Formats: sequence, structure tokens, C-alpha cells
Amino acid sequence: MSLDGNAIAGLLFAVFGEEMTTATGVCASCGMASQVAELRVYLRAPGAVARCSRCENVVMVLVEIRGVTCVDLRGLAALEPAV
Ligand SMILES: [Zn+2]
Repeated sequence: MSLDGNAIAGLLFAVFGEEMTTATGVCASCGMASQVAELRVYLRAPGAVARCSRCENVVMVLVEIRGVTCVDLRGLAALEPAV
């Protein structure tokens, strides 16, 4: 079962220091631009994986290690804050 990007809003806020669900991410695989809130999110302890809603490419991996959240954004071609 997948959730949407709102499920990782708190984690992203902790990392970026701002609200990221309305930021626009561009999938590095298919080029689709979508709001973080529209990504397909799978929660897996101790972290979460966000996938492109079109091609299922993994665009974000968040892992919490000893209270510090690490983010892997290699699946994103771009991540732009909302204007
Ligand atoms: Zn994609």
C-alpha cells in the first residue's frame, strides 16, 4: 500500500527546514514534474521511499539514523521550492 508525499512532510521539513510537499520535483527517469505531495510513498522502517507516480522510479529515499534524517535524492533531476 502506498501513501502520498504528505506522509513524509514531517521528515522533509526536518531536513530542509521548510515545507516541501508543495515543492516541485522532476523525475530523473521520465522527466515528469510533480509536487512532492503527489509522489507515491512507501514507508519502510527505518525510513521511507518516494517513487514517481508515472514511472515508479525511486526519486527519494529517506532514512533516519540515530535521530538524523538522511535523504538520497539521486532519482530527482531537480527539486524546486514552491514560489
Ligand atoms: Zn518518472
